Amino acid sequence: MARHDHQLHHGESLKTAARDRLMQEGEQWTDMRAAVFAALAGFDKPASAYDIAESVSNSQGRRVAANSVYRILDLFVTSNLARRVESANAYVANAHPDCLHDCIFLICDNCGQTVHIDDDTLSGGVRDAAKSAGFSAPRPVIEVRGTCGDCEEA
Ligand SMILES: [Zn+2]
Ligand SMILES: [Zn+2]
Ligand SMILES: [Zn+2]
Repeated sequence: MARHDHQLHHGESLKTAARDRLMQEGEQWTDMRAAVFAALAGFDKPASAYDIAESVSNSQGRRVAANSVYRILDLFVTSNLARRVESANAYVANAHPDCLHDCIFLICDNCGQTVHIDDDTLSGGVRDAAKSAGFSAPRPVIEVRGTCGDCEEA
């Protein structure tokens, strides 16, 4: 990706950036979508659709089906609002909804904490290698398992 003003959002600023991004896609920022995004962003590790449905159900005081959460998560992933962490089979809010990267995730085997880094040089190298092997439009999925700093100290 070309040089750009790379910004990682948190809290309210993340919510606003996510809403703006989704509306640019011609989609509506409905109350349900806002609630799912808030729940997703509230987790400090990758969350499954079930975790999120549970959290939204609690905050809304009514039962929300995991299926409807799935559909919204799908939309979030295609709109760059969320990323799927494949090896955790779960989702994280994307801290940079305004720009596209092949996000790299470092996942702690012990506590599940997931660190998100962006290194276009590294993922670009993987893309180039895939293209050289005859793959078109490759989408690198780079996830690293290990022990996080917090668990190492404990
Ligand atoms: Zn960026
Ligand atoms: Zn990223
Ligand atoms: Zn850990």
